[in-house]
Amino acid sequence: MREESLKLRPYLDEVGVMIGLEIHVQLNKLNTKIFCGCPLDYHDDEPNTHTCPVCLGLPGSLPVINRKAVEYSIKVGLALGCSIEEHTQFYRKNYYYPDLPKGFQITQYDYPIASSGYINIEGEDGEVRIRINRAHMEEDPGRLVHEGGSIERSKYTLIDYNRSGVALLEIVTEPDIRSPKEARRFLDKLRNILEYLDVVDTTLEGSMRVDANISLSGGSRSEVKNISSHKGAERALLFEIVRQKNLLRRGGKVVQETRHFDEARGVTVSLRTKEEAHDYRYFPEADLVSLRVADWAPGIAKTLPELPDARRERFVSQYGITDDHAKSLTSEKKVADFYEQVAAEVDSKLAAVWIADVLKGELNYRDLGIDAFASANMVQLVKLLAGDQITEQSGVEVIRTILDEGGTPDEVVAEKGLLKAGGDLVTAAVEEAITENPQAVADYQNGKQEAVNFLMGQVMKKTKGRADAKEVRRMIIQRI
Ligand code: ADP
Ligand code: MG
Ligand code: ZN
Repeated sequence: MREESLKLRPYLDEVGVMIGLEIHVQLNKLNTKIFCGCPLDYHDDEPNTHTCPVCLGLPGSLPVINRKAVEYSIKVGLALGCSIEEHTQFYRKNYYYPDLPKGFQITQYDYPIASSGYINIEGEDGEVRIRINRAHMEEDPGRLVHEGGSIERSKYTLIDYNRSGVALLEIVTEPDIRSPKEARRFLDKLRNILEYLDVVDTTLEGSMRVDANISLSGGSRSEVKNISSHKGAERALLFEIVRQKNLLRRGGKVVQETRHFDEARGVTVSLRTKEEAHDYRYFPEADLVSLRVADWAPGIAKTLPELPDARRERFVSQYGITDDHAKSLTSEKKVADFYEQVAAEVDSKLAAVWIADVLKGELNYRDLGIDAFASANMVQLVKLLAGDQITEQSGVEVIRTILDEGGTPDEVVAEKGLLKAGGDLVTAAVEEAITENPQAVADYQNGKQEAVNFLMGQVMKKTKGRADAKEVRRMIIQRI
């Protein structure tokens, strides 16, 4: 299998870029927070309306672990090829910040729930394996709202504890990523896997937040905190490469520090020097017992759905499509589901071409998702194409028209008169062109090959471009 043949990457390129990511994934498909019963559907509600003594960190309140959060975490761990810890344990990570009312965050330290996994991605030079160091569970802090935009310019800061205590799974990679583009591909692939697992709604704001660590040529690393989009991660890393390179060129040294990505300006700025683990005074959370989860994993493994890589391989063998098409079609769960609906009813290869090569491009261009196009419309369109009733050019026009104005393929084809001219119509047009242009016919018969082009032009005019050019040429030559 492809998986086994993948080797770890033995080299660095000339600037020796090493990138490691820490991704905070909100398990926001749970009903409640990780240590209390507060509901998670707060996104449309007023700040501080989904809180209780536990997630407000009031003295005397006690956490109770959300069983489902543990199950979801194991599910993700297994999907990433991790081993699941036999006993998993929570710790207190102590620091003071207003988004953390207890003065410590309940997280994991030793004995994280999952460790030693991997994700394969398309690297700069073929498929590569990015190792996952671990995935650990923790609670989300509250959300700080800096009035007036940025942290530097705001006069005051508001705190919303609705987010406080939402279950997070922090996924930490090894520094195996070699470019900002690879980092983005890794994040896209991870999001895809999480969507397949149905444990996170990635459309919700803040559902996947990234800390990106980067070093050059074996030097110290900087860590860019709290990047909210995959494109933002790519941009922040590109900026860091240039910044670190310039620093090194001028004879400076990269210091190990935490930086902030200013999305609007596209730059990173220093926040503080890097803290060490001992600064946090980690110690076991005595209010939560250690959990023996070894016995949970086998049962959860049985519930794992088919994941993107497996689905891609199945698409190639089941539908006879190319690996490139299969990759493109499975890179988003919704697109893969869409394809399977269409392929069940029409020629699967033709459907792959029209969805992967045409529809996806038109959707991207308009910044739309696959939901913007009904699968029934794609079925209808592929039938028109397979039956040779419209040209490929018309097929593209149908997709564009539906996306911009609505309608179904049959409606658009009727309205715009896109049906290929039928045989009788073309024969009649050829006949007419020949009788109306005796000079051109004579020219051709005297050896002037170009005369055919003139006659073809006449036929195309009469059929409004809906006749097949090659076929028309054949018919004219045969007739004269
Ligand atoms: P810490 O305990 O300081 O957070 P970790 O070992 O947990 O450090 O690593 C945090 C992240 O930094 C990981 O994603 C890891 O891959 C990444 N990382 C570690 N060393 C480097 C390096 N030299 N260059 C880039 N990233 C690195
Ligand atoms: Mg860390
Ligand atoms: Zn609560």
